[in-house]
Amino acid sequence: MTDAYDLVAIGAGPAGESATELASFFGHRSAVIERARPGGTVTTTGGAPTKTLREAALYFSGLSEGDVYGVRISTPPEIATDIIRKRTGSVCDLLQKVTAENIAKNDVDYIEGSARIDKDGRVTVTAHDGSKRKLHAKVILIATGSRPFRPTNLSFDIPGVCDTDTIMDRGRVPKDIVIVGGGPVGVEFATICHALGAKVTLVDRGTRLMNMMDRELSDCMEELFRKWCVTIFFGSMPESIRAKGDGLEVKLSNEERLFPDTVLFAAGRVANTEGLGLETVGIALDSRGQILVDEKFRTSAEGIYAAGDVLGPTLASIAMEQGRVAICHAFGIPFEGIVDPCPVSAVYGMPEVSGAGLTEEQCRERGLDYEVGRANLALTPRGAIAGRGGLLKLIFLKGDRKLVGVHCICDLASEIVGIGQMVIRCGGTMNTIANMSMNTPTYSYAYKYAAFDGLRRLVSRESEAHV
Ligand SMILES: Cc1cc2nc3c(=O)[nH]c(=O)nc-3n(C[C@H](O)[C@H](O)[C@H](O)COP(=O)(O)OP(=O)(O)OC[C@H]3O[C@@H](n4cnc5c(N)ncnc54)[C@H](O)[C@@H]3O)c2cc1C
Repeated sequence: MTDAYDLVAIGAGPAGESATELASFFGHRSAVIERARPGGTVTTTGGAPTKTLREAALYFSGLSEGDVYGVRISTPPEIATDIIRKRTGSVCDLLQKVTAENIAKNDVDYIEGSARIDKDGRVTVTAHDGSKRKLHAKVILIATGSRPFRPTNLSFDIPGVCDTDTIMDRGRVPKDIVIVGGGPVGVEFATICHALGAKVTLVDRGTRLMNMMDRELSDCMEELFRKWCVTIFFGSMPESIRAKGDGLEVKLSNEERLFPDTVLFAAGRVANTEGLGLETVGIALDSRGQILVDEKFRTSAEGIYAAGDVLGPTLASIAMEQGRVAICHAFGIPFEGIVDPCPVSAVYGMPEVSGAGLTEEQCRERGLDYEVGRANLALTPRGAIAGRGGLLKLIFLKGDRKLVGVHCICDLASEIVGIGQMVIRCGGTMNTIANMSMNTPTYSYAYKYAAFDGLRRLVSRESEAHV
């Protein structure tokens, strides 16, 4: 009887944790099974360690302050590395502990082991000591996440060739690194390695950095990288890597040869679906091996849902939302049954890049008649005091002035876009922002400047049209 649950989630990452806690809150007996650590990628190899590393790299390198005060006070990498590694470890430990406590506080059973769904719909958990336990669940949520993609033409057995799961074990700060992938993770690591004094080369098969972000912001980041002497090769991928002397030799598809001491492959993720018994219960996958679901996050097997990275790489914030929506549907919980239609996303480079709503490219694709208001954050009182700049960009429809997109590049972009996201969610307009009182000195004050800029452009275009 104790092994009978209303909900069993496989994977204690953001999707599995949020889903089981919500179900339990509404009185449904829940368990979450985890084969590694509580918190999933976030507390092991993803968000928490990389952001701690970023924060520490900023602190020890004096990267931002150096430009403001004209003096760069930094700690030598050989001293900083050990402190940074310890700090990263302790932040991960803390967040794993907090996650475990949250799970327990919400009366969710945390079961350690590897899970598999049997033909009869039960879930078998194999513990680390090999013992097995069978669970019965009315609803199963597959939230097993993803792992780094490893192309078959590259050997990850060569010392110095890493992916995002192994880079933290490198043990030293690279002196010369090639980062493959110009997405969020590649950009984050490029800025961290630059701050720590490494020579950085970034390789991407596409034509721009962070292609999910507004193009103008990608271009700003690219400009900054070029200023930092980060070499970027677009339209290219590594064809081979081999050990050479103390380092590596990387041959790119554009015939370029590079000789770094470290390669970080950060281009793509693969869904964790192996060994789950999906074929035995008839769960359909797409051509990339990701679980197929409908808008309620139902798989093709009765009573089995899936959420998070196992559907395709996403963000922790979205994975949690998907878990929530799946469970609302499964148990008829009366919360809004859709994933946030205006989700935020952020790239934690230095500076950060963040956005919500439509990009200019998306507005053009949809044929929307839009206008843009911009503000330079260096000209806000807070920006002037801190000696930091950046760009805030508000995209709105000309007809009713409704805000449809907010995009920002600056030190605190991931915090700043929240205001714009809320205005979009509430159907607000540029007038809403122009008439809002804002704390000063703050970077957020840029909203007012951007709103005035946008409205000024609109009015001057309208008056041009009437001449
Ligand atoms: C380097 C990096 C940085 C990132 N930074 C950010 C960021 O700043 N902000 C953000 O929002 N997102 C970030 N992400 C993305 C974010 O981490 C993921 O989108 C999110 O963790 C997905 O959550 P999930 O619950 O689907 O899967 P995961 O977090 O991957 O959790 C899945 C869990 O399932 C477990 N599991 C798998 N198979 C089994 C099994 N058979 N039995 C038992 N357990 C199993 C795994 O051990 C794992 O713990 C980052 C990702 C990476 C790689």
